[in-house]
Amino acid sequence: MVSVVTDMKCPTCRTSLVLMEDRKYVWLGCDKCLRYLRYRKDRMIKGFLNYGDRLDWRGMINYLYERYVAALAQEE
Ligand SMILES: [Zn+2]
Repeated sequence: MVSVVTDMKCPTCRTSLVLMEDRKYVWLGCDKCLRYLRYRKDRMIKGFLNYGDRLDWRGMINYLYERYVAALAQEE
């Protein structure tokens, strides 16, 4: 599992969110709150490829972050 710390902050605790990747999924979550969202990598990559070969990495992370915040809001 590959994992990188992003510059996105957890809306709950302000810890930097971590992006993880395994063979099939991309995960975005907070190591402190232990809350993670999981997405299928193949679908994700299809949605964010520019001109066939360049991955819109920032767009993808922004999208994941929006989903993360939305999921939190739903739980409240
Ligand atoms: Zn958190």
